[in-house]
Amino acid sequence: MDGPPGGTTPITPVIKAGWLDKNPPQGSYIYQKRWVRLDADHLRYFDSNKDAYSKRFISVACISRVAAIGDQKFEVITNNRTFAFRAENDVERKEWMQALQQAMAEQRARARLSSAYLLGVPGSEQPDRAGSLELRGFKNKLYVAVVGDKVQLYKNREEYQLGIGITFIDMSVGNVKEVDRRSFDLTTPYRIFSFSADSELEKEQWLEAMQGAIAEALSTSEVAERIWAAAPNRFCADCGAAQPDWASINLCVVICKRCAGEHRGLGAGISKVRSLKMDRKVWTETLIQLFLQLGNGAGNRFWAANVPPSEALQPSSSPSTRRCHLEAKYREGKYRRYHPLFGNQEELDKALCAAVTTTDLAETQALLGCGAGISCFSGDPEAPTPLALAEQAGQTLQMEFLRNNRTTEVPRLDSMKPLEKHYSVVLPTVSHSGFLYKTASAGKLLQDRRAREEFSRRWCVLSDGVLSYYENERAVSPNGEIRASEIVCLAVPPPDTHGFEHTFEVYTEGERLYLFGLESAEQAHEWVTCIAKAFVPPLAEDLLACDFERLGRLPYKAGLSLQRAQEGWFSLSGSELRAVFPEGPCEEPLQLRKLQELSIQGDSENQVLVLVERRRTLYIQGERRLDFMGWLGAIQKAAASLGDTLSEQQLGDSDIPVIVYRCVDYITQCGLTSEGIYRKCGQTSKTQRLLESLRQDARSVHLKEGEQHVDDVSSALKRFLRDLPDGLFTRAQRLAWLEASEIEDEEEKVSRYRELLVRLPPVNRATVKALISHLYCVQCFSDTNQMNVHNLAIVFGPTLFQTDGQDYKAGRVVEDLINHYVVVFSVDEEELRKQREEITAIVKMRVAGTASGTQHAGDFICTVYLEEKKAETEQHIKIPASMTAEELTLEILDRRNVGIREKDYWTCFEVNEREEAERPLHFAEKVLPILHGLGTDSHLVVKKHQAMEAMLLYLASRVGDTKHGMMKFREDRSLLGLGLPSGGFHDRYFILNSSCLRLYKEVRSQRPWSGAPETSHRPEKEWPVKSLKVYLGVKKKLRPPTCWGFTVVHETEKHEKQQWYLCCDTQMELREWFATFLFVQHDGLVWPSEPSRVSRAVPEVRLGSVSLIPLRGSENEMRRSVAAFTSDPLSLLRNV
Ligand SMILES: [Zn+2]
Repeated sequence: MDGPPGGTTPITPVIKAGWLDKNPPQGSYIYQKRWVRLDADHLRYFDSNKDAYSKRFISVACISRVAAIGDQKFEVITNNRTFAFRAENDVERKEWMQALQQAMAEQRARARLSSAYLLGVPGSEQPDRAGSLELRGFKNKLYVAVVGDKVQLYKNREEYQLGIGITFIDMSVGNVKEVDRRSFDLTTPYRIFSFSADSELEKEQWLEAMQGAIAEALSTSEVAERIWAAAPNRFCADCGAAQPDWASINLCVVICKRCAGEHRGLGAGISKVRSLKMDRKVWTETLIQLFLQLGNGAGNRFWAANVPPSEALQPSSSPSTRRCHLEAKYREGKYRRYHPLFGNQEELDKALCAAVTTTDLAETQALLGCGAGISCFSGDPEAPTPLALAEQAGQTLQMEFLRNNRTTEVPRLDSMKPLEKHYSVVLPTVSHSGFLYKTASAGKLLQDRRAREEFSRRWCVLSDGVLSYYENERAVSPNGEIRASEIVCLAVPPPDTHGFEHTFEVYTEGERLYLFGLESAEQAHEWVTCIAKAFVPPLAEDLLACDFERLGRLPYKAGLSLQRAQEGWFSLSGSELRAVFPEGPCEEPLQLRKLQELSIQGDSENQVLVLVERRRTLYIQGERRLDFMGWLGAIQKAAASLGDTLSEQQLGDSDIPVIVYRCVDYITQCGLTSEGIYRKCGQTSKTQRLLESLRQDARSVHLKEGEQHVDDVSSALKRFLRDLPDGLFTRAQRLAWLEASEIEDEEEKVSRYRELLVRLPPVNRATVKALISHLYCVQCFSDTNQMNVHNLAIVFGPTLFQTDGQDYKAGRVVEDLINHYVVVFSVDEEELRKQREEITAIVKMRVAGTASGTQHAGDFICTVYLEEKKAETEQHIKIPASMTAEELTLEILDRRNVGIREKDYWTCFEVNEREEAERPLHFAEKVLPILHGLGTDSHLVVKKHQAMEAMLLYLASRVGDTKHGMMKFREDRSLLGLGLPSGGFHDRYFILNSSCLRLYKEVRSQRPWSGAPETSHRPEKEWPVKSLKVYLGVKKKLRPPTCWGFTVVHETEKHEKQQWYLCCDTQMELREWFATFLFVQHDGLVWPSEPSRVSRAVPEVRLGSVSLIPLRGSENEMRRSVAAFTSDPLSLLRNV
């Protein structure tokens, strides 16, 4: 009965349609026959039943009354207009009136849950764009609104506000294209609408808005409609707003856009937010089924079982109310229905293991939400986890649900995390208003200058966490708005970047970029401050204290917790990147020009920006593309050299410009014995090219032997120093230095140099020291390189003082500085000794001809001790991803010139000082992942493994490859956060076989003749043996009953560490157990066979592993920063 497909969607089915006479306009007496159609939202009439587009539509929401009048007529009455229709007969009229009244009643019921009703706005949603447009065929301009997936046409703005329009175009059949400068066509299968805008800019904005509507129309159709098929999913699970098109895939609820914004704020550990429309890849058939079975119905029966009416959300609730509610609902679990087993972990886990094998998804949801361990041990080694059980039982929906909740945090009322404070604090209400100039929002970064004409003057109001922009200050409804909670970044381009002197950019969660312009610096600053205050939480307020160029939130990983990305707040000013992390202490700003590394990793889909400073490594993830790209560009720019002076360079450790460091390091490694080093000139073209690339981005230049000649590098360094605008000794002080060289009394002269040194700017001072230290080393090899102090002074005097070399004063200063290097620069003996040692090692290696000088990008530097931890035994070593524990061990021994004798079982140990335990690394273990897990109170030490021989003998002589016996067992319960007294050690029976370690409470009916216990009863505990880390030693505080103990660490899938302690009665017992562990964990290969020791291939590691200048200073911090990464950093990120 309903003809054209134009407006039919399953959401708004036609309620009634038919021919009616409509009373004529303006006093004419002839009734017009109209095809009239009623759906849940609109009453429309058409010229014929073949038409797709109506002549008129009336929002059902705007109908106040329907009344019968005489002559089979009835009236549809709105606020200030009445439409009269005449039916064929009374029955027909009655049916129409009933249909209308019912539609109105349903509309009201829905409206009670809808924001539009409470806001008093007719229609259902805020328009994405609304304004006047010419439409061919109409005398007057029409008022056009793009709302959701529809383009609505109204006679004028007044009618728009009344909810009475001409027609609307469902954009699922629409297509827009521009025609000329101001015109564009909206094409549908039934009709072409030719629009003209007032300006080119407006045309583009309209095109963009309509394209958005098409995208929305096309995307809604599939996933959303399928999910909405379950009635509760048609309204936001949190606030009740209609047609929610977002979802939390782990909580399994469908939510509206506004709630989605707040869900995101909770963090992915609480809620993983995805769009029903945009994230199409996510919506697998299984996930959709899961939402149909669980969804908002089951979700709220659990999560919202006890919501006091005063705390319930409305579609119109303010962002702060929404945030509080959602915090309480999902983070704290305040309203949840408590499971009867709540608080009894063991029972909860058991119940979970049972539930996942059934179809009872709601039970699984309730158990997980009440604290059941998602990766608890099921007791069945064949299917040790709930996930495995579900799989075994063929419960694919259970599996999907478990997988989506793998990293979900259990709600906790008492959690004292600072993160919580961060989000539960209500943002301050900032208000501001005034005129701003605005361009159309963009979906990508602004590369070009935006001309003044591209900006339109808009009245802008910031209040209640919303920035709204209006046509003018009298306009009632805004042209658009940006919610502060959706702002992810605020950037201030340098003045005069665009047609307006002062501009600022606002980036939103939805990947849009809004550019605003202003004439006055003061007003711009005021706006920027107000917007910043509106979207930055109190936690990160400190960032507002200094003038920033960019401010916002980004997902990051840092420190030792690399498993989980969190959202942090960042600001960039100059070359300082400040960060406020929700967890952890206040961070020192990162000095971008002093970074050791700045690189982008990952593929284009999943980029990670890696920033390595001496003390720490920061990973910023490109989850949202647009603002990430903005940050990336800004950080790269800020990390580059600012200009030509020394202190404007990229700086390395100890304030030495990277450019100087790179050259000095290279010469140290490859050129110390090169004849005539620094005197010989390199090839001019090569030198220039090298210097150019060093000036551009010294950090990314990695000098490699074979690619660069030492003379090219030495010439580039001299050229750089000679061309420094202010010189190394500065223009102001140059003369004083030269004069000092004439002081005759040596002692007086040296103290004068010391005096002058203090006066130099810090970067210059550090550079002078590094350079002279280097030259001091160079002259140590004057036997081979022919460059004694005097020769070096001849070369460097004029270079450093930028003189012509006629006068030897400059040379004398350099000569003096090298000769009195130790005194002038207060070098202590130890430092000098270390330096000599390292250099001797380099030269020795070169002479031996084993070094190839290959450096691998991405290696980490680590401190390793020989035999025991003390300053004299430390070695700094670069750890390439491929390095094994054996290679590391041999490297250290080589460096220290320690010969390996037979039956010296040199091994690298991971020592945990806090636990007073140590673990010999298996020879084939990769070192990098271990560094990753190394805490601050752990270190690596290479020493002889005293028990190895005994263990190998045991393994060779024993029968069978399992071991069982009594040990004393103690669990570390405090680690589980329960704070329970941990009790003492208790006797337990253990069986260790090739797959797992089992613990039995008691040994039933032990059979003396076999020595093996009756093991038909279930073990009390059981662990997969390969996931255990076994450390020798038990900390004394725990009062181990014997001194033959070990500490066992088990890391669960959730990266939670469980730890317990075992004690044996004798040393022999301990060694046997330990040997069996090693044997089982490494498939029988406990110690390398001799040939592998000889044929090791490490030479390329060696030269690159010696690094001179950056390694002095606090090694602990270094180790911490090195923190840790596997060869593929993304492998960690992917699991998030
Ligand atoms: Zn909502």
